[in-house]
Amino acid sequence: MPTLRARDLEWLKAGFGGTIVLPDDGAYESARTIWNAMIDKRPAVIARCATTSDVVRAVSFARDTGLLLAIRGGGHNIAGNAMCDGGLVVDLSSMKAARVDPVGLRVTVEGGATLADLDAATQAYGLATPVGINSTTGVAGLTLGGGFGWLSRKHGMTVDNLESAEVVTAAGEVVRASATEHPDLFWALRGGGGNFGVVTRFEFRLHRVGPDVLSGLIVYPIAEAKTVLQRYRDFLADAPDELSVWAFLRRAPPLPFLPPHVHGTGMIALALSYFGDPKRGEALIEPLRRFGAPLGEHVGVQPYVAWQQAFDPLLTAGARNYWKSHNFSTLEDGLFDAVVAAVGTLPSPQCEIFLGAVGGATTRPAADATAYPNRDARFILNVHGRWDDPADDTRCIGWARDFFQASAPFASGGAYVNFLTADEGGRVRAAYGPNYARLARVKRTYDPNNLFRVNQNIAPA
Ligand SMILES: Cc1cc2nc3c(=O)[nH]c(=O)nc-3n(C[C@H](O)[C@H](O)[C@H](O)COP(=O)(O)OP(=O)(O)OC[C@H]3O[C@@H](n4cnc5c(N)ncnc54)[C@H](O)[C@@H]3O)c2cc1C
Repeated sequence: MPTLRARDLEWLKAGFGGTIVLPDDGAYESARTIWNAMIDKRPAVIARCATTSDVVRAVSFARDTGLLLAIRGGGHNIAGNAMCDGGLVVDLSSMKAARVDPVGLRVTVEGGATLADLDAATQAYGLATPVGINSTTGVAGLTLGGGFGWLSRKHGMTVDNLESAEVVTAAGEVVRASATEHPDLFWALRGGGGNFGVVTRFEFRLHRVGPDVLSGLIVYPIAEAKTVLQRYRDFLADAPDELSVWAFLRRAPPLPFLPPHVHGTGMIALALSYFGDPKRGEALIEPLRRFGAPLGEHVGVQPYVAWQQAFDPLLTAGARNYWKSHNFSTLEDGLFDAVVAAVGTLPSPQCEIFLGAVGGATTRPAADATAYPNRDARFILNVHGRWDDPADDTRCIGWARDFFQASAPFASGGAYVNFLTADEGGRVRAAYGPNYARLARVKRTYDPNNLFRVNQNIAPA
């Protein structure tokens, strides 16, 4: 790997409006720390960009010096691709501005914004676009892999709401990609990850949402998990797109609405949100309370931004994480048996399994309409291996892998790139299925030398 020469560094610094962080700087340790504590990479230089011109300079610098290049958006990616060893990180975490056009129903947001930044800006006008369920996640990585959350059944994947993007290419050019400008690039950005350039600005379509929404949790004991999951499956088959219900299985956190004696015991929680008239929503969700004998519930009308942050305390930065994921177009009883067995052997109090319901609007585009191809997925399952002590690595990773294997026979194939771990590069082709060949061709056009390769990589055709 090339070493960083002082005179090259001087070139990078000259005219760079942001901050250059080097290994002997005080800010280095925090600048290289990302969400997953298992990632311990030491870049040679972190270029904390303030503007698109800074990004151009940093990309050109990495290309011309031959340094490995990584891109950091929100720093949440489980595989740790926001950092690299010995190379340069294009760090966008200072570029967070969001501008809303409440008449045209559009928001333009910079490439380092978090979901919290985006939601705060859009909800000031009672507007939103579908993003994920943990507000500290980066808009960039989430969008570029597909993106789904509570609003997706009604309004589609995040990529389905992308109108345009400003991209710094490997050649150091700034281009705008949209349906009419660089349409191939625009297609590839909508699911193809960080393979094609650094996105400095995203433009999304907005929808009227809330600002208050009926949402919350209904919690059942783990002993009732299989019945609850069966009823959940049957219920969702007829549920309108406005209603989203996800299932979480784990040990109960000390939630104030649960009796103290159930804290720390196994539970299945149904997390619901309804994007319509709350009165109609109340009637619709009533059956969810009769799936068994609930331990407790916390359901009501609350601000959408609060619901978007409801899971943040369970998913704070700094824990060790190893996740595995499958897509499902149907939920079979055999899967529920595998889930219940795995939840019976949780190796740490933070481990969990969740079933995110997509379907609805996410299934309507054709599989080749965007690079994100998994339009047959109605559920995205994620097993979160999560713990604090490195001594538990083998045990917790083993548990996640065992469950991944046990649930594989029921999966519909494909994979969600945003949930792939560092050791799953071999699943990238499967993740894109028939779209892979076109992605490889677009990659050849925009990044023929694979400068952008610290990611779930698509090699140039
Ligand atoms: C707690 C938690 C909750 C999550 N919940 C959801 C959810 O509800 N729905 C969902 O869909 N996903 C969810 N995810 C997955 C999430 O979408 C991915 O982890 C995503 O990669 C995070 O993006 P980021 O910008 O924070 O990550 P980063 O680690 O900063 O970036 C990830 C990768 O994206 C690329 N990238 C980042 N920024 C840019 C840019 N500006 N230009 C070009 N490429 C870039 C790079 O290749 C980078 O390696 C969740 C993840 C976590 C950890």
